[in-house]
Amino acid sequence: MRQRIVVLGGGTGGTMLANSLDRRRFETTLVTASTTHLFQPGLLYVAFKNAGTPLVRDERGLLARHVHLVHDTVTSVDLTHQLVETAGGSRLAYDRLVVATGIQTDPSGIPGLADVVGRVGDYHSTVSQARLLWQSLDRFRGGTIALGQTTPICKCPPSPIEGILLADELLRRRGLRERSRLVFFTPYPRPYPAEPMNHVVEPILKERGIEVATFFDVDRIDPESFTLTSIEGDVIECDLPILVPPFTGAPIAYEPAGVLDESRFVRTDPRTLRVRGTGTAFAIGDATSLPTSKSGVGAHLEAQVVARTLRGSPATFAGRTHCPFDLAHGRGTFVAGTYDAPVVPSPPSRLKHVMKATFARLYWLSLRGTLDPALDLYFRLTDPARPRWRGLRGPHPGT
Ligand SMILES: Cc1cc2nc3c(=O)[nH]c(=O)nc-3n(C[C@H](O)[C@H](O)[C@H](O)COP(=O)(O)OP(=O)(O)OC[C@H]3O[C@@H](n4cnc5c(N)ncnc54)[C@H](O)[C@@H]3O)c2cc1C
Repeated sequence: MRQRIVVLGGGTGGTMLANSLDRRRFETTLVTASTTHLFQPGLLYVAFKNAGTPLVRDERGLLARHVHLVHDTVTSVDLTHQLVETAGGSRLAYDRLVVATGIQTDPSGIPGLADVVGRVGDYHSTVSQARLLWQSLDRFRGGTIALGQTTPICKCPPSPIEGILLADELLRRRGLRERSRLVFFTPYPRPYPAEPMNHVVEPILKERGIEVATFFDVDRIDPESFTLTSIEGDVIECDLPILVPPFTGAPIAYEPAGVLDESRFVRTDPRTLRVRGTGTAFAIGDATSLPTSKSGVGAHLEAQVVARTLRGSPATFAGRTHCPFDLAHGRGTFVAGTYDAPVVPSPPSRLKHVMKATFARLYWLSLRGTLDPALDLYFRLTDPARPRWRGLRGPHPGT
């Protein structure tokens, strides 16, 4: 008898997981709200480089033929009775559930933010919002750009600094840098949250003349004057505010409701990836409460762990992250760490920039598992727990 697996969400994690379950043992159904799949890292290049590479593909074409696809929005999940309900009226019973519904931007909690994001654009939600941000940057002829994250948790932790560095590169290319002030703000005590990587990043910001405002928790933003005020009463005035909005989990009603935390992230065991308090449900990727980076690489590695457990060989997640980090001007680095091996300060290089760009081209293949043997080897060789990294490690964990 085949196990009925229901996967919620057809993004990076859900698609990889569904594709990795074979048809002999599993009857896999993937329920996803959108008919298309967005390669989210590409939003950075639409917003800051006006990149024209298509970022969206049809989800059906990315799934193995035996995966049953339901295009519908999940409205409720009853973990006790193992039942999923959708907006379209479907009721799906499961033996095992995998939640991979990601997170979405939610500017509603900060007065003025929805208005600003609607006028200026952002690079953490949709292609049209990223295009709007490009248009705002394209119109900019000098003045102050303030860019930063509004809450500590951010999809792809390097992305705020990548944004300010790419803005700097753009202004230099256009001969506008002399007439412009760039301010990077963050709620953290340093530009990059993990201290070992901050040793790499902070000197670059300094060298490029980017000002940094730390401990800046955005309380409100005036949509007319573009004045940002922090909870502590500090003020940043600017001509172009680029804000990474707060994030929230999918609006799905869970039974029991206690599996969601205050950000609507699914409370997940950091090692087994089981939804807390259940034996039959797992969560992967951005949707989880895991104390690690919200990244596609994480979603990929977590999908592998859950697939192994579903196949009957219980596996555990080590908290591995490996976020590619674009430092602009053709240089890049990686943020790699695990729960037990803190982030390694990785020196910038051209090769790492090329690797990030190459992976973007290979993303679609990776969803089918085609690249797994090469990627597994790469992740093993670059595992921060390997002895050769130990000497490089700084004193503080984090990603
Ligand atoms: C600017 C930017 C740069 C990034 N750069 C990198 C990078 O360099 N490297 C990296 O590893 N990661 C990067 N990321 C992060 C990466 O894209 C995400 O972490 C990854 O996509 C998370 O995968 P996921 O499967 O958890 O969620 P997603 O890929 O977000 O998928 C969630 C899916 O769930 C569906 N869904 C949501 N709600 C419902 C519902 N109620 N019912 C049904 N379906 C639903 C959505 O439609 C979507 O298909 C970047 C992200 C951004 C925005």
